[in-house]
Amino acid sequence: MRKRKAKILPIKIYGDKTLRRIAEPVEKLTDKIKDFIADLTFTMYEKEGVGLAAPQVGRLLRIFVVDPFWFTEGNEKKPVVLINPKFLEFEGQIESEEGCLSFPDIYEKVMRAKKVVIESLDEKGEKVRYEADELFARVLQHEYDHLDGILFIDKMSKLRKMFIKKKLNVLEKTTNKDGVNIG
Ligand SMILES: [Zn+2]
Repeated sequence: MRKRKAKILPIKIYGDKTLRRIAEPVEKLTDKIKDFIADLTFTMYEKEGVGLAAPQVGRLLRIFVVDPFWFTEGNEKKPVVLINPKFLEFEGQIESEEGCLSFPDIYEKVMRAKKVVIESLDEKGEKVRYEADELFARVLQHEYDHLDGILFIDKMSKLRKMFIKKKLNVLEKTTNKDGVNIG
């Protein structure tokens, strides 16, 4: 194992154009990408998130990390890394509240599939498959969307989006070209 200290990556805030772009598949799991994954994971925990996708830190790669239960399970960290993920199945629908590290202080209900099956590579480049429901399924869908430039506000009902319109406009206007919110 190489010794290296993980660092916090700056998170792009809504208004940043990277968040709207489509991420590229990872061709080869190089040491550089492994370091990036370590940083992405470290950043997710430091920022107290349950998921973080590469485009949110300005890297257009199809990688995200999730750990939906670390808050509720005594802060025990079990990060799940997904590289080049692909959904195989969706089942049912359920509405629940979501937040996003790229949208500080915005929480709104979003409709998602209740259960999903996803296939992916893990951080060692091995094929993994998860059958997920409830919060795990929700976080997977939320993070996956980031790889296609889709944000949770796109999945909200018109009415719910109307409730937060003012907040969104302020956020968009006060985020600079580096994706830093200066509001
Ligand atoms: Zn998000």
